[in-house]
Amino acid sequence: MDCLFCKIVNGDIPATFVKKTELITAFKDITPQAPTHVLIIPNKHFENIGQVSNTDANLTAELFKAAAEIASELGLESYRLNINTGADAGQSVFHAHLHLLAGRAFAWPPG
Ligand code: AMP
Ligand code: ZN
Repeated sequence: MDCLFCKIVNGDIPATFVKKTELITAFKDITPQAPTHVLIIPNKHFENIGQVSNTDANLTAELFKAAAEIASELGLESYRLNINTGADAGQSVFHAHLHLLAGRAFAWPPG
């Protein structure tokens, strides 16, 4: 399968890794939208977070647990988790991922 994030998990494309477990990988976003911008993804390919949660409750929990752990490890008091699902919501890579954003104030509602 020609998937950018599968290639990062497999080591075929380089990334700056933040965390790697049997189930998930976290790495820095190549175009950071905030001083901290980490992507957290399942090692196994799923098109979006809905497919993950419909298939594997444990993996869904692992993704959110990793986000909380990374936030804690980085000493973040405030952070935003963002999950774009579908092109109209801004999803551009169709391998499920959480954005962990921090280090600046964020507007609400989102654009
Ligand atoms: P989304 O638009 O929600 O699908 O998010 C995809 C994210 O992947 C964007 O924030 C991109 O900047 C990021 N991205 C694309 N290619 C790479 C890469 N090679 N390494 C790290 N992040 C990437
Ligand atoms: Zn993939």
